[in-house]
Parts: sequence; structure tokens; C-alpha cells
Amino acid sequence: MTRFVFVTGGVVSSLGKGIASASLAAILESRGLKVTLIKLDPYINVDPGTMSPFQHGEVFVTDDGAETDLDLGHYERFVTTRMGKVNNFTTGKIYQSVLEKERRGDYLGKTVQVIPHVTNEIQEFIKRGARYGEPGAVDVAIVEIGGTVGDIESLPFLEAARQMSLRMGANQTAFVHLTYVPWIAAAGELKTKPTQHTVQKLREIGISADALLCRADRKIPDDERSKISLFTNVPEWGVISMWDVNTIYKVPRMLHEQGLDGLICDKLRLNTPPANLKRWDELVYETEHPQGEVTIAMVGKYVELSDSYKSLNEALRHAGMKNHVRVKIDYLDSESLEAGNVQQLAKYDAVLVPGGFGKRGIEGKIQAARFARENHLPYLGICLGMQVATIEYARHVANLQDANSTEFEPQTPNPVIALITEWHGSDGTVNKRDENSDLGGTMRLGAQASDVAKGTLAHKIYGDVVNERHRHRYEANVNYLDQLRKAGLVISALTQREHLTEIVELPQDVHPWFMGVQFHPEFKSTPWDGHPLFNAFVKAAVDHQGAGNKLKAVA
Ligand code: GLN
Repeated sequence: MTRFVFVTGGVVSSLGKGIASASLAAILESRGLKVTLIKLDPYINVDPGTMSPFQHGEVFVTDDGAETDLDLGHYERFVTTRMGKVNNFTTGKIYQSVLEKERRGDYLGKTVQVIPHVTNEIQEFIKRGARYGEPGAVDVAIVEIGGTVGDIESLPFLEAARQMSLRMGANQTAFVHLTYVPWIAAAGELKTKPTQHTVQKLREIGISADALLCRADRKIPDDERSKISLFTNVPEWGVISMWDVNTIYKVPRMLHEQGLDGLICDKLRLNTPPANLKRWDELVYETEHPQGEVTIAMVGKYVELSDSYKSLNEALRHAGMKNHVRVKIDYLDSESLEAGNVQQLAKYDAVLVPGGFGKRGIEGKIQAARFARENHLPYLGICLGMQVATIEYARHVANLQDANSTEFEPQTPNPVIALITEWHGSDGTVNKRDENSDLGGTMRLGAQASDVAKGTLAHKIYGDVVNERHRHRYEANVNYLDQLRKAGLVISALTQREHLTEIVELPQDVHPWFMGVQFHPEFKSTPWDGHPLFNAFVKAAVDHQGAGNKLKAVA
């Protein structure tokens, strides 16, 4: 039967609970166990799809088209199990389901309450995420509970976890609590008090932690670890130090060396071969020994918050490792390019325009695409980045005056990008929408297959078929494709079902590397293989640099 490890957090958020959970999962997977991860988010939104990246960071999209928390991205990059709709749910989703049941009459005669109805529903969702009792069930499901212990919002989730542990028995569940041990410079000391209090809070709810992951900017000395153990009632070997490191790939080994996986396997009575973290050590080596460096300009809107482009940053980093270079990313605010300093792009080795929504900063992105096209600078446009490259080409090469997307200019004379009203979802169902449709969950979402034209750059990278994930509302307008083609733009991939534009590029005798893709390739990049598109893009950046000057030596 599947065992469950609950990961909770205390003191403050942003301590790296997602990375800690993913790392534990990775170590357990290296011991031969089949693992999955489930993220519970305490907010009321049904999913993060409608939240601003400023609020919530990136929205990660799964193959089956779920818009999820960015932690699911870490999960997919750390373990081999693929995530899907069942791996992330929010308070909003739980209540939606409970209320539907109530209206249907499933609870007929009863007063519907947080305990037991909401807490039971949470347990059902957790079991569904682990495929509990089904043929595909995993050995261990790691359940990360969002928020910090003590928040009103996360109480029903913690209560559900406590109940699950009671019902299943002590050896079927384990609790790992992530806490913060601040260094107080004035006193020259690490302070354990916040940790004592958060573990106390957890015990008040009826949960005793089996392990504490103590985040600090430095290693926690044994004296402090014993003190934490004494005050929190967690055995000393369960008090694990998690210090700041320069790469997240060091975390699995850090936790393993201190015995976290051994402790969990003992608690859950799991008999497995020892962990093998060789591939993680190799990754760390690769990150620490690059042979050069390329600098990529990322022209976006959410530049102040790098969490907004989490998967993209990771994908570029992975591609760097594949090319043995460090990829440095400079985030440029597209509005600053509008002010007339697009020339600053000349110093970069490549330009990337990522996905985005809304009108603000669009003209700056269009200028970036134009600059890259005219100056033979490698260009990768992702989703919105493909759309702006298309608009730019229409305006300045195909002579389509004022071409635009109806997202930014509903009355544009030349809507080269426009809303499509009917399309098939990744599960084959027909979806319809118009300008008045709900904004939540109504985009083209999830993985869809497209045919790639032979002889193109896209074909060199992907072969005959590309199958990538989507998250967008607007599409290249089919009515303009012929005009764009005549003007020299190559439409190198069309979706198999609706023949929607999936990839555009410039011929390789016109530009060394210029491509726009309607999908989000970053969601499928892994540290092990990188991703063919990003590997090729970073290679183009290296070549561009090599053409002008030697690889910049790494400082
Ligand atoms: N705003 C554009 C659309 O909805 C692009 C979306 C994106 O880049 N993810 O089509």
C-alpha cells in the first residue's frame, strides 16, 4: 500500500519547501521506489491560472492541461513521474467539489461541515493523487502542504493529514517539517526559538514531526541541533540542517548525507537498496565547471520577479549544461526598450521573448524581435514571443500596416493574431469561447501534437512531430498565413487537428537562428537531457558569440 509523507512549513514562507519535497522524492526514487508528489494550496482560487505572476510566480502547465503551482515544475524536474491534474489542488477546488456534492444531494439530511466533509474530501483528493489502491499506485506519495503552520487557511489540510495518519497507522505516514533558524548578526548566534514555537504549534494540532529540516544561511552546529531536538521532541538524528547552497542540485545529497531518506524508510518500514545519487553529483560538477559563458537578454514584463519565469530559467540553465557553458540571463523590462534604447540588445549573445498577457510592454517586445531579426541575433519567442515576432514581420516585411493582435488592439486593420472560437482540448473534447467567456481555465491548455515541415530548423530540432504544452488564448490568424509566407516567413509546424500555427521561423540563409513557438517548451526540460529546442538555442548563442569574439572566459 502507498505510504504518505506530509511536508509542512513553519515560521516563514519561501524557505524552499518545494525543493526539499522534490529532493526527498528524488532520493527515494534513487532507492528504487515509485514516488509521486502532491501539492495542496490553501488559497480559494480554484487553480493559479487566474493569478498574476507577481502574486504567485509562474503557472506550471501539465501534459493533461492543468494550470498548477510552480512547485510541480520542480517535481517534474527532480523525479521521473509526470504530474497531472490530480497532483495539485486548492481549498477552492475542494469546496467546489463539496458544494457540487451538496447540490446533488450526496449529503442529504446532513449539515455539511469542515470536519468531516471538507477534511474527508481532502483525503479523497490526496488518495486520488497517489492512485491509492489502483493498479498504478505509487510506493510513496509526498504531500506538500502550502502555507505555514499557524495560518487559518491551512488548518483543514493539516487536520486531514492528522486524520489520515490516525486512520492508516503510524507506519504508513511520516511528517517532515521545514523550519527557519535565523542568524542574528548582532548576537552572533543562530536562534532556535522560532523553530521551538512552530513545532509546538504543529503538536497542538496533533502532529508530531518525524524530521525537521532546519533552513539557515549556514550549517547548524551539533549543539544547536541537540537543543532543537530537546525542545521539540524530535530525535537528534531527525534534526537536519539545510544550509544555503549555490545550486539546488546539491540538496538531495545534503539531505541524504544526514540520513533523511534512511529515517523515512525506517519509519515507513520500507526495505530498499541504498540511495544512488551519482547523477546528482554529475549535475553539480557540470554546473560548477562551465567552459564559457553566454548572456541572453530576456525581454519581459514580470522581470522583477524571477519566479515568474521559473521553468524558463531552469530550461536555459539545463541547456547551458548540455553546451558546457554558463547561461547568464539579463532581464530587460520591455517598457524600457520602448523608450528608445533597443540598441542595448547588441551586446547580448541571444534574445528571448517569453510568454505573457496584456498590452503593457508589447511594443518593446516587437522592437526586440525586429532588432534580433535585422541584426542576425539568435531569437527565441515563446508563446507571446512568437506572436510579437509574427506581428513584427507582418508590419515591417509583409507591409501589413498596423498589424496587431486583437488582444492588444481589438479594432486593428490587420489582426494577424486573433482569438479562435473553437478547438479541441488535449483530451479530444471540443472547447468553444468568445470575448465574453470566463477567463479561468478557458485557454488552449496542455500537450498537443503538430507536424513539422521537412527542411526547416524546427525539423532539425524536433523531427517530424512536435508535442508540447500550451497555455494561450490567441492564435496566428490563418487568413494571413499566405501573405506572411509570400513575404518570406516560414511556418514550420501546424497542429495536427486544427492546423493552427505552432512554429514560425526565418529561412536559415536569411538569419542564423530565428524562431517563434506557440507552445511552452520550458515545461518539459529536465536537468538530465535538457530540451532539444533550448539546447539548440543556447548553441546558437554560443555560435553567435564565437563568430564575433572568443568565448568569454568564466570569471
Ligand atoms: N497572451 C497571449 C495569448 O493568450 C500569449 C499567452 C502566453 O504567452 N502564454 O494567446
